[in-house]
Amino acid sequence: MNIDIIKNECKKQRINSIIKYNEPLKNHTSLRIGGPADVFCSPNNIEDLKKVVSISKEYDIPFRVIGNGTNLLILDNGIRGLVINLNKGFKKIEFSDKIVKVGAGVSLVYLSKMALNRELSGLEFACNIPGTLGGAIINNASFKRNYMADVVQDVTFLTRENKIERTSKSNLNFNYRECNLKGKSVIILEATLLLKGGNKEEIESKISENIEIRETKQPLYKLNAGSIFKNPPDYYAGELVEKVGAKGLSKGRAEVSSKHANFIINNGCASAGDILYLIEEIEKRVKKNFGIKLEREIEILGEP
Ligand SMILES: Cc1cc2nc3c(=O)[nH]c(=O)nc-3n(C[C@H](O)[C@H](O)[C@H](O)COP(=O)(O)OP(=O)(O)OC[C@H]3O[C@@H](n4cnc5c(N)ncnc54)[C@H](O)[C@@H]3O)c2cc1C
Repeated sequence: MNIDIIKNECKKQRINSIIKYNEPLKNHTSLRIGGPADVFCSPNNIEDLKKVVSISKEYDIPFRVIGNGTNLLILDNGIRGLVINLNKGFKKIEFSDKIVKVGAGVSLVYLSKMALNRELSGLEFACNIPGTLGGAIINNASFKRNYMADVVQDVTFLTRENKIERTSKSNLNFNYRECNLKGKSVIILEATLLLKGGNKEEIESKISENIEIRETKQPLYKLNAGSIFKNPPDYYAGELVEKVGAKGLSKGRAEVSSKHANFIINNGCASAGDILYLIEEIEKRVKKNFGIKLEREIEILGEP
């Protein structure tokens, strides 16, 4: 890809948002792993976003939007083309009684706090899911049987053709860690959520309960990307990983967490290759011992 073409086009079109070249994506993932993006753009507003998408279309450059990078393993040679990370203008929250309009770049943790402040219930489960609203909708993020799908009413997104479209919840086909916008080249811009009136103390108590469960069970203070595998029907992925003796297994500076076997942690300077080695090793062992093909929850992007 000719980066100079992009540089010139961005100047010509007066894009005022942050644009970086050969930006290390480890700066944008919770695992702190990931090679460079050819072009990394953080549009501040819809106008700049549309300009960037039109450049990508005109020069046939692929783009990929990322949120907080908390469900990603980006490989060591990074991502060719354009990586988009929504900035300021996509981080707005507007409350109107129990209806909330939320920008796709808003952090779930912050959103959950704002809902608590307004005594609105429905986002307690999201109190420490470290992603953005956009990533949470794509993955139908959940905790303890509470899902994004329970609160989303509609989603507004930008298509590859640079058109803004809105779709209602019934068309999104929310499922376990997916909805039907996943894998399509669309950029979620905002969503409307419907919450319930609640009691501040009860909401706070649910939040504290969720935080306690996580703190006792998950390696929250180590670099990680949440659960590596989806739970297969009738099983917990973490239990299967333990049963095949992979808990604590390590490769380089990557390690299967000894606190929760469905988490892999970066003990500092692990490569994506190290993490991938552990993922593949677990998959082989679980297939061999139980005949179960584990499905990955973590998304692997980029070039090895
Ligand atoms: C400590 C820890 C705990 C976690 N706990 C949970 C949990 O309890 N439940 C749970 O479900 N997940 C959990 N996760 C995983 C992760 O936080 C969620 O999947 C989250 O929703 C991902 O959001 P993100 O912004 O980080 O998305 P990213 O990881 O950046 O991206 C994920 C996917 O969403 C797409 N995407 C992101 N933004 C947009 C957008 N605006 N438009 C279109 N596509 C977009 C990306 O292209 C990618 O396909 C955890 C992760 C960590 C590190």
